[in-house]
Amino acid sequence: MLKIPKSFKIFEQTISVVWEEELLNNANAVGQAQYRYNTIALQPSTVGKPRTHEQIMSNFWHEVFHFIFFYLGDYTIGKIKLRREERLLDMLGLVMHQILVSSEGDISS
Ligand SMILES: [Zn+2]
Repeated sequence: MLKIPKSFKIFEQTISVVWEEELLNNANAVGQAQYRYNTIALQPSTVGKPRTHEQIMSNFWHEVFHFIFFYLGDYTIGKIKLRREERLLDMLGLVMHQILVSSEGDISS
């Protein structure tokens, strides 16, 4: 099972990752990129709102891509701000998770 880090760095910024039990109730979201605080909040699995590890991992990567596009100078294509393209971020999150869980072998050995 892949771990969710407590923190990591992108572009010399340290991003913290925290569980937020009331995220779904308070923000109607299962993950949130809190740019001002360099924090990713994630809704944990709870009794009333069960969530699989895969769902949470995909949400984690979705939020990571929010930060990547944010720190890429709020990257835009035409008038489209990529960090606001939720479906694109969902797909990037899913595919990043899939790459990591399906990785096999070691090319250097
Ligand atoms: Zn999002």
